[in-house]
Amino acid sequence: MALSGLDIYKLLPKTNCKKCGSPTCLAFAMKLAMKKAVLDECPDVSAESKKALEESSRPPIALIKFGSGDNIVEIGGETVLFRHEKTFYHQTAIAITIDDTLGDAALLDRINAIEKLSFERVGQHIAIDMIALVNKSSSGEKFLDALDKILLNSKKPLILASPDPKTIEAGLKKCPGRRPLIYAADPGNLSQMSAAAKAYKIPLALVGNGLKPFPTLEELDKLSQEASGLGIEEIVLAPGPKNLHESLNDLTQIRRLSLKRNYRPFGFPVIMFIKNTDKYQTVIDSCTFIAKYAGIIVLDSIEEDVLLPIITMRQNIYTDPQKPVTVEPKLYKFGSPDQTSPIMVTTNFSLTFYTVSPEIEASGHPAYLLVTDSEGMSVLTAWAAEKFTPEIIADTMKKTELESIVSHKKIIIPGYVAVLSGKLEDVSGWQVLVGPKEASGIPKYLKEIWK
Ligand code: SF4
Repeated sequence: MALSGLDIYKLLPKTNCKKCGSPTCLAFAMKLAMKKAVLDECPDVSAESKKALEESSRPPIALIKFGSGDNIVEIGGETVLFRHEKTFYHQTAIAITIDDTLGDAALLDRINAIEKLSFERVGQHIAIDMIALVNKSSSGEKFLDALDKILLNSKKPLILASPDPKTIEAGLKKCPGRRPLIYAADPGNLSQMSAAAKAYKIPLALVGNGLKPFPTLEELDKLSQEASGLGIEEIVLAPGPKNLHESLNDLTQIRRLSLKRNYRPFGFPVIMFIKNTDKYQTVIDSCTFIAKYAGIIVLDSIEEDVLLPIITMRQNIYTDPQKPVTVEPKLYKFGSPDQTSPIMVTTNFSLTFYTVSPEIEASGHPAYLLVTDSEGMSVLTAWAAEKFTPEIIADTMKKTELESIVSHKKIIIPGYVAVLSGKLEDVSGWQVLVGPKEASGIPKYLKEIWK
């Protein structure tokens, strides 16, 4: 169990030397208890005390890694209940199932389809993170055949899902360096699954009641304690199948107990299998579990209209609220612009850029887009925060040497900041044209108004 600040203080050197940056050992102990410092910051703590303090200084939710080489997935390691308190660090991994009942051709088709699933959104390339091979056939032979084909055709991190420890062990022999997740140990097979996880030094998922109906958190708690007792350190918790309301309740309780009570048996990331035949409910369940608080979601669907909203949700949740997503401030070209082409100006907030640029592309009109450094703020926010001022725009124009790029001296500003036009003309010496307020007005503007 977690130690209190006073308990921790008793184990520190009590010299108040300040080397850790805190004025006293007691202040440092309080910081440690609140997870606002790490033990390594005290260089004088004894080995004996260090061991005793390890429990208290361990992160409240373990960081678990799968995969190998360039294909590593990390989950867990979170420190807050709500994203706005700080940030979420390791985004929910998305896995797609492959059943070992598929015939050879269908299996290869599914692997290829998963490999090809990728999306480009606000400048980020997003692909499916993991493959979950499911022993639906209950045949070890079929499972291993399917695994051979996956290993040949994909480098994605794997989840090996079978209740049979012998099948799991045989599967692990085939992929010793791939660090898959074993899914899952239950009360009936814990010792064998744990032995396999320890032998291969890989993470182990735990299902409290072996996927029987109505699993309880008490069962999962007991199993987690037993697994830790067997020396398993890399655990992924599987609360099991329930309705959305009950699952959300489980996930919230696990997260609250791990973060607020530092309850070690629940200090691990969670895996959720989404088992809905209705695609809308699949999206709803997935998005709910991404927001609260799954480390991995496993889907059967490979349909893009199901995956895109889920991935979009994940992208929105797993950005640092204190660091806006930005694009590089510079001059962007659309089509093959020449000396007569228009120059529009905007800010480097990623969402702004990726809203404006498709509209310029859609216009079919060759053009330039000058992106200023607004510290990742959108146009109106940047203007209000004085990060998108006439001086900043003029300075960017100068640094980009626009005069040597076009033969005219006209620049188009967003309609929402028409108020900048007079001052910008004064400081830049260019004619300032006021463009549309909405990006959707750009094609019409370039076609009918730009001269
Ligand atoms: S560095 Fe260690 S001994 Fe020195 S004040 Fe900090 S906690 Fe105390």
